[in-house]
Amino acid sequence: MNVLITGGAGYIGSVTVELLRQRGERIVVLDNLSNGHREAVNIDLPFYTGNVGNANLIKQIVIDHGIEACVHFAAYAYVGESVTDPAKYFENNLTQTITLLNALRESGVDQFVFSSSCATYGEPIRIPIDETHPQWPVNPYGWSKFMIERVLEAYQTAYDLRSVSLRYFNAAGATTVHGEYHDPETHLIPNVLRAANGELEYVSVFGNDYPTPDGTCIRDYIHVSDLADAHVRSLDHLAGGGMSTEINLGNGSGFSVLDVINTARSITGNQIRSTIEDRRGGDPPQLIADSKRAYEVLGWKPGFPELEVIIRSAWDWKLAHPAGYRE
Ligand code: UDP
Repeated sequence: MNVLITGGAGYIGSVTVELLRQRGERIVVLDNLSNGHREAVNIDLPFYTGNVGNANLIKQIVIDHGIEACVHFAAYAYVGESVTDPAKYFENNLTQTITLLNALRESGVDQFVFSSSCATYGEPIRIPIDETHPQWPVNPYGWSKFMIERVLEAYQTAYDLRSVSLRYFNAAGATTVHGEYHDPETHLIPNVLRAANGELEYVSVFGNDYPTPDGTCIRDYIHVSDLADAHVRSLDHLAGGGMSTEINLGNGSGFSVLDVINTARSITGNQIRSTIEDRRGGDPPQLIADSKRAYEVLGWKPGFPELEVIIRSAWDWKLAHPAGYRE
C-alpha cells in the first residue's frame, strides 16, 4: 500500500513509519519539522518538508507516489500552550487538517487514520472511559481533535472518505531506534528519566491532593509500539472496506505519578528526587481507557502493558541517545 504519513518525524509517527516500512509498505513522510526530527526518519524514505495545509503539495505527493491512504499525526500537542495560544492550535490542527482532507478527497484518497486523543473526553464522568463516554474537551487542543472527528464523520457521509480516529491515552516508551524527545519536555515519564540521569535536579509532582489513593493523578500509559501497531491495523481495516470509527487506545489500567516515579527508581537504580508542586491546570484526576472496541474492530490488544516494560524501554533509549535526536 502507498501511504502518506504526516508528522512521520515525530514520536509516534516515527515508530509507525518504521513498523510500516518493516511490513514492506511504501511510505512517504511529510513533516514541517517544527517539532519532529529529520533524523527520526530513515534516509531511504521519500521525505517532504512542508505543511499539511499546503494543498498543492499534498496533491502533487498523491500523484507522484500513487497515495491510497493517509495517516495524519502532524499536530501541535502541548495542552498548556493551546490555552495560551489557541489560534496556533486551531490554525494548524483544525484549519490545516481540513485543507489536507480536502486535498486528499479531491485527489481520490478515501482512507484516513487520525491521531485523536483522550483529551476529547474532557473531565471524565465515569472510569474506565469507553468511546460512548460524552465528549466535552477542557482545552483548545482537545477541541481541535474533537472537531476533526466531527469533520471526519461528515466526510464519510458526504464524500465516502472513511477514517479511523484513534484516541490515544498516555503514549510512552520507546523502541530501540525511536524514542520520545520533545523540547520543551512536559511529559511525566521523560521528565522522571531526566531527573534519573541528572539532567533535572528533581521531578515536579503537580499536585498530591487529588481524590486518588496516593493523591497524585492516575493515567493509562500505553507503549508507543502498541500505538503504532494499532495504526497499521487501522489501515488494514480501511483497506478491507471497513467503515469509519473512533477507537480508544490504552491499557485499561492506571498508574499514579508516584507509581511512575517509584517504578523508574527501581529500573534506573537512581534516587530520583521529587518535589510536590501546585496542581497543573486542566489535569483530570484519573484517565483510564476501556479499549474493548480496539479488540473488537481491529483485533488489537496491547503487547507491552506492563509499566516496568514501558519505562525500561524509555530508559534504554535514553541511555543509548543521551542527547535525543540532537547528536
Ligand atoms: N506530571 C507531573 N510532573 C511532570 C509532568 C507531568 O506531575 O513533570 C503529571 C501531570 O500533572 C499528569 C501526569 O503527570 O497528572 C501525566 O502528565 P503528562 O504531561 O505526561 O500527560 P497528560 O496526561 O497531561 O497527557
